[in-house]
Amino acid sequence: MRNVAVLGATGSIGTATLDVLASLPADQWRVWGLSGHANLELLADAAQRLTPPPEFIVTSAAKAAADFDAARWPAASRVQVGPEALVELAAAEEVDVVVAAIVGRAGLESTLAAVRAGKRVALANKETLVVAGPVVKQQQQTSGAELLPVDSEHSAIFQCLKACQTPPRRIILTASGGPFRTWTAAQMRDATVEAALNHPTWQMGPKISVDSATMMNKALEIIEACWLFDVPAEAVDVMIHPQSMIHSMVEFVDGSVIAQLSPPDMRLPIQYALTYPERTACPAPRLDVAQRMDWTLEPADRERFPALALGFEVAAAGGTAGAVVNAANEAAVGLFLDGKIRFTDIVPACRRALEEHQYERHPTLQRLIQLDRWARAEVLRWHCGASS
Ligand code: NAD
Ligand code: MG
Repeated sequence: MRNVAVLGATGSIGTATLDVLASLPADQWRVWGLSGHANLELLADAAQRLTPPPEFIVTSAAKAAADFDAARWPAASRVQVGPEALVELAAAEEVDVVVAAIVGRAGLESTLAAVRAGKRVALANKETLVVAGPVVKQQQQTSGAELLPVDSEHSAIFQCLKACQTPPRRIILTASGGPFRTWTAAQMRDATVEAALNHPTWQMGPKISVDSATMMNKALEIIEACWLFDVPAEAVDVMIHPQSMIHSMVEFVDGSVIAQLSPPDMRLPIQYALTYPERTACPAPRLDVAQRMDWTLEPADRERFPALALGFEVAAAGGTAGAVVNAANEAAVGLFLDGKIRFTDIVPACRRALEEHQYERHPTLQRLIQLDRWARAEVLRWHCGASS
């Protein structure tokens, strides 16, 4: 029996994970713990559907928990409130696998706790690697934790890498191009929140949807790939593939390129991270070979999408660069979603934070957390300065 803790169970990845777990054999897989932040109705419904009920439920937002009817939780579950409880759930002795599906830097401490406790970590929360890649890797080496990618591109690369023992020559990340793939820079300047959230191939939470529109998501994925697969930034490339069927590719030293294909559905990479090295039938749809497939691959336009250059730069710089850019991005995306800044203000805010921060090559975790706070505050300050 493998006990699973799903952190961020109410989100897009979290609900897809519960769907996968419902289809795996109940005598081998148990949802032992769940966490949610604001949407506690959804969390309580998910907990009520589980048999046996989850042992441990964490509601990380104290205010939402205080306003919520406690009778809605399964009677047998222990419910704890607050961000510290996330760390307790991630490190609980009973837990074998932690699905890290909280969005943004908010997932850092719990993901790190799971790594430190030597769990199998199914990693959706790429921001943790972007903010604190060296800390995660160091703690993984000490604890022996397994870090398995959930991000579809990284799951694809992980699978492709099985084709050869020697290191790859190049990793080619595919990108759908997001909702603004064909938009001009001038059109993007007036992009609405609704348009930015309207992703053509993936249904995702709001933050990553905006990241896909700016292509900051691909920037974060370049950094994620460097940490996960121990490759330099120069060994990573990006190609636009609007159909989201080819999830990424790896080129080996002999020039052979191996790709992983499947219709866009996160349940497949989530399940693979859970069951690896085994494969088992999955609820995601299969490739339909009765359909004609006109798939395209084209180079990414780095001028219209300046986030890409930023991603390569941050991946090469390492140190404090990832924490600062990630924090500036989270703050700027928040402002954009609140209608306070333009879509095209997001990436320049990240670049400015990178350039204005005091770079360090070997920061402590504490320093990274300080810089995360600094960059958020700076982005808010610039906005207030600009609007007053
Ligand atoms: P989402 O917004 O749908 O869900 C986020 C989850 O995090 C929710 O359960 C929410 O309650 C919780 N959460 C939000 N703020 C929190 C806080 N301050 N403290 C604790 N919990 C908090 O997001 P998502 O699309 O499921 O993305 C989750 C992660 O997975 C992100 O890091 C994203 O980049 C990554 N990811 C998502 C997809 C996808 O298809 N959705 C694909 C690849 C990677
Ligand atoms: Mg991805």
